[in-house]
Amino acid sequence: MPSGKNHLKAEIAALAAIIAIITGANFAFELAHWEDEFQPLALVFSAAYLFSALLLSPDLDLARSDPHNRWGYLRVCWIPYAKLFRHRGLSHNPLIGPLSRLLYLGGWAASILAGLHYIFAVEMNFLRDGWDDLHAAPLSALSLGLILPNEIHILLDRAYSDPR
Ligand SMILES: [Zn+2]
Repeated sequence: MPSGKNHLKAEIAALAAIIAIITGANFAFELAHWEDEFQPLALVFSAAYLFSALLLSPDLDLARSDPHNRWGYLRVCWIPYAKLFRHRGLSHNPLIGPLSRLLYLGGWAASILAGLHYIFAVEMNFLRDGWDDLHAAPLSALSLGLILPNEIHILLDRAYSDPR
């Protein structure tokens, strides 16, 4: 049965539990004086998690859904995705699902950046600098934050299998 709202509730509840664990871990890291390394990662993870729970739900495969509406005017970007992916098909695959949405979003971002660059001659050096600055740890925190709410969603859908 999990409707969009119940999904979000479950994912936010999971985040609350994770934040409790993170807070506990932070306390432990403070004792070990590692908190300066740990806190930015926890922040990256939490922000990515919220972004994904709110805006990268597997139910973007539905033409009308809460996650669609949360995109506001930008929801038109997701119409092809809903047409391309059958509801609860590959979009709800634990591996291909999150990957498909990240690649899809990346495709849009790349097209917009390419448009800005080639049509309006906007410099894109900041992208290369940003890429050079990216390290494995924040990238892992980001990926985990983006993927985890999707996995919770898919698990819930499988646990309560009904048409939504
Ligand atoms: Zn679903």
